[in-house]
Amino acid sequence: MMDTKLIGLLFLLLFGTACSKDPVVQQGDKDKNDFYGWTAGKVIKDAEGWTEVVIGDYPLVLSVPHGGGIKPEHIPDRTCTGSTTVLDTWTIEMARAIQQEFKQKLNKTPFVVISHLSRKKIDQNRTLDKALCTDKTLEPTWYFYHNYLDSLLRYSSEKYGKTLFIDLHAHGHTKQRLELGYNLSTTQLDYLSKGWDLSKIGAASSYANLLQMNPAVDIQGALIGDHAFGTLMQEKGFPSVPSRQDPVPAAGDAYFTGGDNTQLAASDKYPKVYGFQIESNSGSRNTEERRAEFAKRLVESVEVMVVKF
Ligand SMILES: [Zn+2]
Repeated sequence: MMDTKLIGLLFLLLFGTACSKDPVVQQGDKDKNDFYGWTAGKVIKDAEGWTEVVIGDYPLVLSVPHGGGIKPEHIPDRTCTGSTTVLDTWTIEMARAIQQEFKQKLNKTPFVVISHLSRKKIDQNRTLDKALCTDKTLEPTWYFYHNYLDSLLRYSSEKYGKTLFIDLHAHGHTKQRLELGYNLSTTQLDYLSKGWDLSKIGAASSYANLLQMNPAVDIQGALIGDHAFGTLMQEKGFPSVPSRQDPVPAAGDAYFTGGDNTQLAASDKYPKVYGFQIESNSGSRNTEERRAEFAKRLVESVEVMVVKF
């Protein structure tokens, strides 16, 4: 998750290394999973119960990196410079509602990975160097989450081909709308809405792999056209940016562009994966009824996208 104000700086920092360095799994390949015994609905947890993985049978991988509340006392809080420690409230409950809706409506199970630990202890939407501060006790927990995320993406890609990835978050911004992060800045979204630089923007976006897989899809249509996730959600009562109705955050609007998990999942490391980050507003998640409605509309929208894209 990153604010637009940080984007310029982060681009500068990342530019020199992004092409040459795998941003996440730098070691720990020995712990990678071989899919043995994987069946839909199987739940896998680490020994402490801090990370939960669900094997699915639908080409959607859902990641919930910092909605947890467990704070082991022996782990120091993350207090180093640049550490965000705010809890993404209700995002685990949103994932539960989505799982339930998939089961009820389609008798299907999405792939899921959830961190139940507090973000004060670890941030699972960060590369390892930023996920922890000086205390490295939770390094194996970081690998558990990210090695499984890697496995879920590879497994779904092998089994189902085109795979949608969603990283689920919560924002506290004033404007009540879903902020969909496609790894594009406000300026890039502005260009997109005007039809400028479309091939460059498509290649920079978290839909780059989708555009490669299906040349019939164009980036403008996929992000702000009739079948875009934001457009579909907005039509169903969940205002969203970008969407056909609200293609670009206004100047000065707070807007999250995407995060480390979205960047990695949609990178060329997983050529069959495309996706986005959802930053949900409080009105879409703060009651059980709203979460159930959100889940219903999300599943409907994903079903459209799976067919159209
Ligand atoms: Zn978040």
